[in-house]
Amino acid sequence: MAKVVIIGAGLSGLSAAYHLEKKGFSDYLIIEKEANSGGLCRSIRQDGFTFDFTGHLLHSSNPYFSSLLLHLLGSDNVNKIMRRSFIYSHGVYTPYPYQVNLHGLPLKTILDCIEGFVKRKSSKKKPKLFAEWVLKNFGQGLANSFFFPYQRKLLQYDVRKLSASWTGRFVPKTSLRQMLAGALHNNGQNIGYNATFLYPRRGGIQYLIDQFVKKLNTQVITNCSVATIDLKKRIIMFKSGESISFDLIINTMPLNEFLFGCSSTSLVQAANKLLCTSVMCLNLGIERPSFSDKQWVYYPEKQYPFYRLGFYNTFSSAMVPQGCSSMYIECSYRNKSERSIKNLVKAARAEVKKLFNLSEDEIVVENTLSIPHAYVIYDLWRERNLAKLLVRLEQEGIYSIGRYGAWKYASMQESVLDGRNVANKIIVQLACRNIFSFKQGKHDIKGPHRLTDVV
Ligand SMILES: Cc1cc2nc3c(=O)[nH]c(=O)nc-3n(C[C@H](O)[C@H](O)[C@H](O)COP(=O)(O)OP(=O)(O)OC[C@H]3O[C@@H](n4cnc5c(N)ncnc54)[C@H](O)[C@@H]3O)c2cc1C
Repeated sequence: MAKVVIIGAGLSGLSAAYHLEKKGFSDYLIIEKEANSGGLCRSIRQDGFTFDFTGHLLHSSNPYFSSLLLHLLGSDNVNKIMRRSFIYSHGVYTPYPYQVNLHGLPLKTILDCIEGFVKRKSSKKKPKLFAEWVLKNFGQGLANSFFFPYQRKLLQYDVRKLSASWTGRFVPKTSLRQMLAGALHNNGQNIGYNATFLYPRRGGIQYLIDQFVKKLNTQVITNCSVATIDLKKRIIMFKSGESISFDLIINTMPLNEFLFGCSSTSLVQAANKLLCTSVMCLNLGIERPSFSDKQWVYYPEKQYPFYRLGFYNTFSSAMVPQGCSSMYIECSYRNKSERSIKNLVKAARAEVKKLFNLSEDEIVVENTLSIPHAYVIYDLWRERNLAKLLVRLEQEGIYSIGRYGAWKYASMQESVLDGRNVANKIIVQLACRNIFSFKQGKHDIKGPHRLTDVV
């Protein structure tokens, strides 16, 4: 038996393992269903191109995360980049974020946005719904021309039913002065959480994962998929038929799938209520240098089958062979048949060819990467029940963290911090139980585990 079992070797699981070891704790296993660690931060190599699961850019608002990144990556191995992202609507590109860069849009759109902003109703009440939050902070014009259509397309969900709680640091607010400046001048005001970012100089975002894995003394057990969890007997069953008993679990696999595997009717009922959007990422390797000077572009309008696309080679030239470019095209969907997903990707590919005047001969490499759990939907059921659900799991000794374990909208920064926080929590809990005598600085690391050794 391992004292702690970490499910999933994505960034959250690896960060939990790293921080447990940093505290001198080694009695844990880390289990991953795929052949490689990394989860959404894996990179795929194909014919000289490196592709991620769509753009994965490292932005930080936390000093610990910033210093850990530099410690792991080394300052010589990262590109420090200023954002050059855009929104494409009404046939024009305007710099992101939309609300402070209206210059170039049709006059009516600009006037509607500014008038809506000026006339928005002020209220002291904190808006609960996303739509109320948008109307309060930005007004009807910006809501109609960007916020509502973009979120509708991204989430494939009725925006009137969304909660406002995810907006936090992710949606930059504006002032009338900023809006007017951005409408009158094409000065590309660069504000928001990702105005500058880091990206590994080579190896794609997987480089970060590789550095985490290298630092661990415990080997990740790959190709090992959790099937069910018996909370009473405290046993995890794997799809292979093997099993393992546990004391505590750090879960990073999608919460709904984890709950489906639990022997509890109410948890299975809760699992059915957790909603998310899936994404199909179409990656193209293109034989044309400097294909675009833009890093990524948002497409709020309905006629485009994708909500965003971007260019990997603008993050690092090592992502492509010399003289080439590469791009990712992101299409979101919910409750669609395999056939309609295929058609969606086909339509996206055709539209991209038209938009960028791209010939078939120029597309030299192509793959699609599926992200079944991509964007968590902050509906009102989640708002009322998620916190209670996570507390209930904690009472059972299960810490569910990360973007999908904690069922939230979170960046890589949050995943790493979640891993650190849960490691601290567990160390304290075990120390309190007098099971683990915590000696700071002392490393008591066992050799690599194989599942069969511990079953
Ligand atoms: C389209 C998109 C773009 C993004 N872009 C950015 C960005 O630019 N910047 C940024 O900071 N963040 C970005 N993110 C967010 C970032 O990907 C996540 O915050 C982070 O990768 C989440 O890590 P995680 O470990 O919590 O989850 P995951 O990466 O999903 O890891 C969970 C792991 O659990 C494993 N697993 C699942 N089921 C089982 C099972 N049954 N048994 C065992 N293992 C299992 C999975 O294989 C996976 O390895 C983006 C996310 C998406 C969807």
